[in-house]
Amino acid sequence: MLQITNLHATVADKPILKGLSLSINAGEIHAIMGPNGAGKSTLGYVLSGRPGYEVTEGSVTFNGEDLLEMEPHERAAAGLFLGFQYPVEIPGVSNVQFLREALNAQRKQRGDEPLSGGEFLKLARAQADAMGMDMEMLKRPVNVGFSGGEKKRNEMVQMGILDPALAILDETDSGLDIDALRVVGEGINRIMRKPEKAVLLITHYQRLLDYVQPDFVHVLADGRITRSGGPELALELEREGYRELAA
Ligand code: ADP
Ligand code: MG
Ligand code: MG
Repeated sequence: MLQITNLHATVADKPILKGLSLSINAGEIHAIMGPNGAGKSTLGYVLSGRPGYEVTEGSVTFNGEDLLEMEPHERAAAGLFLGFQYPVEIPGVSNVQFLREALNAQRKQRGDEPLSGGEFLKLARAQADAMGMDMEMLKRPVNVGFSGGEKKRNEMVQMGILDPALAILDETDSGLDIDALRVVGEGINRIMRKPEKAVLLITHYQRLLDYVQPDFVHVLADGRITRSGGPELALELEREGYRELAA
């Protein structure tokens, strides 16, 4: 599904990714762990096409297509979802408006008819219910005044509505208490653990992986993958720290 080969990228002319290669198949959940400043968020931004992140070498294909040639909205329409470490607040735009626009823009890009207001609300209600989120919250401006946990729940509602093929979730566990962590973990499993989907979980800590069991764990250090293994690698990292294992 996703094939990253020898990816080099710079931010403000500073090399951050330095030859990163990673291959993700449908049905797989991958976790990327690594020390602060290793380039984890940069990888997520490069894959989503965020301006200011310049690819200087290497290639990325998504379902056989050149991802780096696609505009950010084309990447989303092709089924890529990025969950941010710090979800944005959008005053003046309700979650319902925002999500309906986003979903219908993706449907249009794919050549599908837009959902009517009624159809959309039904879908939104089902996803909000599944995340234990009150519909009233979905009518409020995007993330404004939401707690850390509510923002992450909201992100899972977004993901459930957009129904991506590949979700890249950057520190979805940061700032969550243990109950919110479980709810979010269950959300990821419910929405994404399917043979035709894949997940790239970016995380500092092992604890989210108690809820979302990865098939593969990778260490990202100094802009490249320095080690790969199974779920046991996450436990080893938790025990030993990154320093020993990164080299
Ligand atoms: P991680 O998510 O692994 O903690 P990041 O990808 O956020 O790491 O950052 C990697 C490196 O890139 C860090 O050294 C960071 O300071 C630098 N960096 C990130 N964004 C910018 C920016 N906009 N301008 C300059 N340097 C940046
Ligand atoms: Mg960081
Ligand atoms: Mg980060």
